[in-house]
Amino acid sequence: MVLHFNRILLKLSGESLAGAQGHGISVERLSQYAEQIKEICGLGVQVAIVIGGGNIFRGMSGATRGFDRVKGDQMGMLATVINSLALSSAPTAIGQKTRVLTSIRMEPIGEFYSKDCAIEALERGEVVICSGGTGSPYFTTDTGSSLRAIELEADVMLKGTRVDGIYDSDPEKNPGAKKFEHITYDEIYNRNLKVMDLTATTMCKDNGMPIYVFNMDVFGNLKRVISGENIGTLVTN
Ligand code: UDP
Repeated sequence: MVLHFNRILLKLSGESLAGAQGHGISVERLSQYAEQIKEICGLGVQVAIVIGGGNIFRGMSGATRGFDRVKGDQMGMLATVINSLALSSAPTAIGQKTRVLTSIRMEPIGEFYSKDCAIEALERGEVVICSGGTGSPYFTTDTGSSLRAIELEADVMLKGTRVDGIYDSDPEKNPGAKKFEHITYDEIYNRNLKVMDLTATTMCKDNGMPIYVFNMDVFGNLKRVISGENIGTLVTN
């Protein structure tokens, strides 16, 4: 299957933003992302981004330490807004316009998300950063990015991770793990592979949204994917 990339939804994890320091926000990682994002915008690709908040707070880990789950999830959603603001300022500094939209009203930090507003900005060539996840607790930013990819009629959801695709077992634990070039959503369920949570995977399956998993921590990989290089794993029906 050949993918055409006119409009993409890029999912970045909060943890990846921490870079080598392992917590918080790495300025080096931010500028690497900014350059890569600017590069593909220059190729005429419309770019929407969802970034997680795991480098700052996750509702589930709060709940195991006695936090109310809903309040913890709200803290997690706010963490994604913090990361989104950081991610928006780095491309702006090198001349690439960005726009932060929020799924929960919080002007003037960002405009309240709507499909129309996001698409207008994409068509103006701005990078649209959809922050705050779905705006509801008990979801993840993987589900938020599936939702936004489908809503914004992206050609693909690119899931940037720290591994170069989907394996039959954890490649960080099992050196013999085998990588898939292509896999179906059903195989992900059947093999119990931890690619994304089931809600996010099911949304993509039900709406025919292809997912491409690749290593975003290697500089230049985003352009390689856009140029059609087969460096990750494609998920389709
Ligand atoms: N979150 C939420 N609803 C959403 C998206 C995120 O409640 O629609 C909360 C949830 O607590 C989650 C946290 O925000 O743990 C950070 O998001 P996520 O864990 O997906 O970040 P990542 O793992 O990608 O860094």
